[in-house]
Amino acid sequence: MKNQFIPSTEQPVKTMEPAWRFIFSRYKLLIASPDSAPSIPLFPDLETLGISPLEEIYLGTLEGKPCYAAAVADLDQVEPPPETAFQDLRLLYGRIDQELLYLCFRAIHLLDWSQKTKFCKKCGRELIVQEAERAKKCPDCGHQSFPRISPAVIVLVERDNTCLLARSPRFQDGFYSVLAGFAEPGETLEETVAREVLEETGIEVKEVRYFGSQPWPFPDSLMIGFTAQYAGGEIKVDGTEILEAGWFPYDQLPKIPGRISIARRLIDWFVNKHQNQEEQDGEATTLESNTPSLQ
Ligand SMILES: [Zn+2]
Repeated sequence: MKNQFIPSTEQPVKTMEPAWRFIFSRYKLLIASPDSAPSIPLFPDLETLGISPLEEIYLGTLEGKPCYAAAVADLDQVEPPPETAFQDLRLLYGRIDQELLYLCFRAIHLLDWSQKTKFCKKCGRELIVQEAERAKKCPDCGHQSFPRISPAVIVLVERDNTCLLARSPRFQDGFYSVLAGFAEPGETLEETVAREVLEETGIEVKEVRYFGSQPWPFPDSLMIGFTAQYAGGEIKVDGTEILEAGWFPYDQLPKIPGRISIARRLIDWFVNKHQNQEEQDGEATTLESNTPSLQ
């Protein structure tokens, strides 16, 4: 099967065969053919390229070839090999295959975790990387560290043929999107959805339904998408976390996220649903007007 990724923590014996190299300097990733058809470079090893990583993590295999994540120092200390360049990971959205993009997300998430967990947080000893699972363990006190994933909900609220979109100060000028927020300890995700929508816009929701999910490693989130229906309330925003919010008809949307994100997938789903409905209504009207009158 093309592109199939098989995760593993058991590092193979190093050879001089090409391996996928996910090389990051913070959130900048080394891309092959960055201007034409961006992809992840395949290199046998980093030393011959003059790159000495601060950290290297084995991820598994893709198309039978090993995959490694590597962190390098600041960009001014690294010379990218020919035909490659460092680019912001977020700019790759929609420009490379989704499975490859999610592998990049896996790589940066694990590098970030590994760099933050060098030492035991209980006794300070250096943690040892485990081979059998994605974990580190303290040789003294036995404390274990696993990669942390922070769940966040993202929700499209519907009211008839309109949806609730909001503008946050983090967005570029004039852009609106669906609402999002982190789950709190002790909450179900459905409760997170209801709380976030109420806190941010004063709107109550019902019929919260799972839509889909997306890894979002900036630094360690998993975005869990939902749809919900309007249940009551009037829009009221706090003016700090949310600047403006409104009910937008599916055919009169403001500027919305342009790349292939779960926010955009939710909005596209809503628009498509109403466009299809409109087409069906149109066909029904045409049929009616074409039906000969019996009188
Ligand atoms: Zn310890």
